[in-house]
Amino acid sequence: MQTLTILGSTGSIGISTLDVVARHRDRFQIFALAGHTQVDKLAEQCAIHHPQFAVVADATRAAQLRELLKQQGTPTEVLHGAQALIDVASAAEVDGVMCAIVGAAGLPSALAAAQSGKTIYLANKETLVVSGSLFMETARQHGAKVLPIDSEHNAIFQVLPEQFSGSLNHHGISSIILTASGGSFLNTDLADLPNITPTQAIKHPNWSMGHKISVDSSTMMNKGLELIEAHWLFHCPPEQLEVVIHPQSIIHSMVRYADGSVLAQMGLPDMRTPIAYCLGLPERIDSGVGALDFSKIAALTFQEPDFARYPCLKLAYDAMYAGGSAPCVLNAANEVAVAAFLRGQIRFTDIARVVEHSLAKHVSGSLNSIDDLLALDKQIRVQAEQFAGSLKN
Ligand code: NAD
Ligand code: MG
Repeated sequence: MQTLTILGSTGSIGISTLDVVARHRDRFQIFALAGHTQVDKLAEQCAIHHPQFAVVADATRAAQLRELLKQQGTPTEVLHGAQALIDVASAAEVDGVMCAIVGAAGLPSALAAAQSGKTIYLANKETLVVSGSLFMETARQHGAKVLPIDSEHNAIFQVLPEQFSGSLNHHGISSIILTASGGSFLNTDLADLPNITPTQAIKHPNWSMGHKISVDSSTMMNKGLELIEAHWLFHCPPEQLEVVIHPQSIIHSMVRYADGSVLAQMGLPDMRTPIAYCLGLPERIDSGVGALDFSKIAALTFQEPDFARYPCLKLAYDAMYAGGSAPCVLNAANEVAVAAFLRGQIRFTDIARVVEHSLAKHVSGSLNSIDDLLALDKQIRVQAEQFAGSLKN
């Protein structure tokens, strides 16, 4: 029996995780669920999964949740605030932590899970973008296992040699190929991109996801963040990472070997597959995802990404090559820009402008403590907000 904490349980990944968990009551029990502001949803989840603790953002929401739980007769104890996320991620009773909070807000709790030697189911890619070196080193020192939930990294994880030691060359691997859908605006006229609305940008053609990652997919910043994520997860030098657009999202990523073989992982675009793969290890367990029906797939196509359409991808490449603090700056500016776009403050094409402006102003250095990284994150957010404010139309 594995005891789990699910951080971000009310989000897209959290809901998919609980769906898989519910199919295997004999394997998993829930210690804590964390849902930030969605009190009703969290109360519902508590009634079904009986966690010992539920965590929300603040005291007001905690009082609301306590009242709902009382009405339902659910005995879950309610906690609130950032420290509570850390506490439920590192509690001695917990074996595994699903890190599915969106953005750099998920970093302190993911790091706490690493420091406590937990099995980490990592969906929150921003953690690796902001603090890749520190996070992986902390996990190593404390014997925490980091299992990739992100579909591309999960695909790579599935097709790497079983005893992968962290050296690509040692295993005869020439490169790692990340596939990308290209998002909703792959074929939109470049001239129309400035007029893309938030409603259009949060509709992904293949995947059903949270708003932030859906916008990131349409700018391909998501693939940029994933390049940096793959760099840290698989010790992959930047020049051995490839990106290819594959609009059908059937191949979730590939590994290219020295002998000419390319191994791919395929499946329907449903996050329950990577979640079940990691939760079930070393066994394969039911995820609820249907079988891939090849007679219904008309074609699998591939094309190169174009930086004129996806300037955010280029910016992410630049930040990855620059290393040090640049990816932290990239992430903070992007989070601010996406939020400003979703509020209707800036245009779709301004997202890249905000990120570019922040990166151009920043002198990259190496930051080795979480406090330094969080301080930089905060400082960049202030600057990026100001710049986004100046773009307001
Ligand atoms: P979402 O917006 O649907 O859910 C986010 C969750 O985080 C919610 O439970 C929300 O309550 C919580 N949250 C938000 N802000 C918080 C804060 N400041 N403190 C604590 N909790 C907070 O997002 P999602 O699509 O589920 O994505 C979650 C993470 O997983 C992201 O990092 C995303 O990049 C990654 N991911 C998602 C998918 C997907 O298919 N959705 C795929 C790969 C990776
Ligand atoms: Mg992904």
